[in-house]
Amino acid sequence: MPANHGLYCHYCILYPASAIFANKKRTMEHPLAQFRYCPECGSADFRIHDLKSKQCGQCGFTYYFNASAATAAFIFNERQELMVCRRGKAPAKGTLDLPGGFIDLHETAEEGIRREVKEETNLDVQECRYLFSLPNLYEYAGFTVHTLDLFFLCRVDDSSPLAPDDDASECFFLPLSGIRPEQFGLASIRKAVTMLLDARHIPS
Ligand SMILES: [Zn+2]
Repeated sequence: MPANHGLYCHYCILYPASAIFANKKRTMEHPLAQFRYCPECGSADFRIHDLKSKQCGQCGFTYYFNASAATAAFIFNERQELMVCRRGKAPAKGTLDLPGGFIDLHETAEEGIRREVKEETNLDVQECRYLFSLPNLYEYAGFTVHTLDLFFLCRVDDSSPLAPDDDASECFFLPLSGIRPEQFGLASIRKAVTMLLDARHIPS
């Protein structure tokens, strides 16, 4: 990082010192550190049981913490440019992102990615195909959400109704040559975009 960098330095926007510290602190924390009371009986005697669970010293209930499922979409237009969104909300507000989000209860991943693409871009997904998954940490209102992000290749036949909404402040297509992974604020999305560029071809 240059010593004399400006207010709009991309490094500082993407990796402010406080965020690096907060993230380090969070990743070393037990995933249930903020769960102080037994959800079964309400006792404060709720102790770390192992790396992913806590157990109540009063009633014996063991609560296991699992990743929340989320989706992200690779959408290409006829010129083989990738659809990217700008995040309109924290975390990583203002950085680039792929359309996607958390899967709702009782929803399939395919239904989830279709719904999120519609909400964020106003586009209809005709077909989607699962590609790969990456774990991530997502900071939400001071709470660290462990996610498993599922990446889909989504076919959109008509991109003319494009209209950003919900979590996206803008959406646009970028040629692969113009994509800079460091401009993507969420770690799993940044890694997925890097994997796409490293593959040197668009998945089909
Ligand atoms: Zn209990």
